[in-house]
Amino acid sequence: MKRGIFMMAGRPPCRPLGIAAILMLAFFMGEGCRRSAPQEERFAVMGTFASVMAGSDECDRTAEYAQICAGKMREIEAQLSLYRKDSELSRLNARAGMGPVRVGAHLRANLVLALRFGELSGGAFDVTVGPLVKMWGFSGGTSPTAWVSTERIEATRRRVGYRRIRLQGDEVSLEGTNMVVDLGGIAKGYAVDVCCDELRRRGARNFVVNLGGNMRCFGRPEASRSWQIGVQNPFQPHEVIGRLDLGDGMAVATSGNYERFVMIGDRRCAHIIDPRTGLPVEGMAGVTVLAATAAEADALSTSLFVLGMEEGGKVAAAITNGAAVFVPDRQPMEVWITPSMTNVFQAGSGVVPRVISNR
Ligand code: ADP
Ligand code: MG
Repeated sequence: MKRGIFMMAGRPPCRPLGIAAILMLAFFMGEGCRRSAPQEERFAVMGTFASVMAGSDECDRTAEYAQICAGKMREIEAQLSLYRKDSELSRLNARAGMGPVRVGAHLRANLVLALRFGELSGGAFDVTVGPLVKMWGFSGGTSPTAWVSTERIEATRRRVGYRRIRLQGDEVSLEGTNMVVDLGGIAKGYAVDVCCDELRRRGARNFVVNLGGNMRCFGRPEASRSWQIGVQNPFQPHEVIGRLDLGDGMAVATSGNYERFVMIGDRRCAHIIDPRTGLPVEGMAGVTVLAATAAEADALSTSLFVLGMEEGGKVAAAITNGAAVFVPDRQPMEVWITPSMTNVFQAGSGVVPRVISNR
């Protein structure tokens, strides 16, 4: 369980906490709160951990906020999970090639956004990548014992293609038989947005919602400070390479190769697959992005992990408030940022970020 970003409201660098699996560290102690009041609530959902923090003025509502989010996230999980046979997504996949299926608002919204990122990324982000993801041993697949043959990769790749998702009103058809939609690269971010909307509807103003490293912040931890997120060093998971100061409503997400991977021989295979080649992405250790919504940040981080710095930088620039920090998978460590990141990313000690030209 990852997550490439830490939440902090104190001074970097972060101290590691005992609960390494969560890897989200909160340092904020609200001054307006009773000491016994909960500062952060964590819970397990959607195959990872979620947490909610509230600013000092409303930190006595943290438990209530967490309960609201847990309810929403579980509702979304029940509809979008690839692992549950009775989810709406599983029913859609089961009817691939068999005509339209009526879907609910959550699945539809995910597909609309997924198609947009499919176009924006030139096919690097593709939610129909499911058969390839499984073939390489993720999303419920069994990991191969030897490198997969070119024939099998090609045959599986033919089942992939987001352009064969047809959306008409509240009906969706998967036009190829054996297509599998896998929303693992987008649904957690989407769930964070839904929770944020619900919390704001109920009067919350200052809070952070985090689901497996997909985060969105509103307001401030306290009047004089903004929410700060530490960006994890992909090679030293208890260290940060810098921090991001987050404005109201901003979202952050990370995609990395260091927490979910399989070893085939001595090759480390990331859980993000390049749909254009059918191969696990190599060459990138971590990408952390900013965007205006958590769903966009989630899809963007996965897209940029596939595209790399040059192409990825252009896609980040095409998104409202899009910005990215890339760490290539090579030594010594390099940190590359998009131009729009220069005022937001504060490098940690010893880190000298280089700016990617966007021409
Ligand atoms: P995580 O789910 O670990 O937070 P990401 O947001 O980067 O990380 O999403 C990775 C997941 O996205 C994979 O586990 C898989 O379900 C799905 N996926 C893998 N490759 C792609 C791709 N090229 N396009 C869209 N989704 C992908
Ligand atoms: Mg993602």
